[in-house]
Amino acid sequence: MKTMKVHVVTPDGPVYDSEVEMVSTKAQTGELGILPGHIPMVAPLQIGAVRLMKGVNTDYVAVSGGFLEVRPDTVTILAQTAEKSSEIDIERAVRAKERAEQRLRERQQENIDFKRAELALQRAINRISIAQRRI
Ligand code: ATP
Repeated sequence: MKTMKVHVVTPDGPVYDSEVEMVSTKAQTGELGILPGHIPMVAPLQIGAVRLMKGVNTDYVAVSGGFLEVRPDTVTILAQTAEKSSEIDIERAVRAKERAEQRLRERQQENIDFKRAELALQRAINRISIAQRRI
């Protein structure tokens, strides 16, 4: 099988570098699967999983939005935040989920930023499901 280089980078530095056979993730427009030789493109991403497949192995990286750029033989994901599944602190994500849910329950009260709480909840659920491989 042909492979391509994949780099996942955040403002804090690189998170994942490898040679893979396929990258699949959630773009703003829907599921996106990239194989070697894909035409160059840039796509904005949703909060979601990046699946990186090579042979029988699949690596999972949680991203919270950003961009995917395809260039000849290289895919670069520039993410706001990114964690490999093995590096996700589940307890922290569960605490973040509970905080976000609490904020959403209190949304009738003043000073609750609904969109911000909603995004925090999505990030937490995404991290929990990737850490538990329930994706
Ligand atoms: P929290 O409230 O727990 O900080 P958050 O969703 O607000 O969650 P972010 O702002 O998305 O956190 O991320 C801040 C930094 O912390 C990033 O570097 C991100 O990779 C890291 N991070 C956030 N949650 C986790 C987690 N559960 N496990 C590992 N790293 C995490």
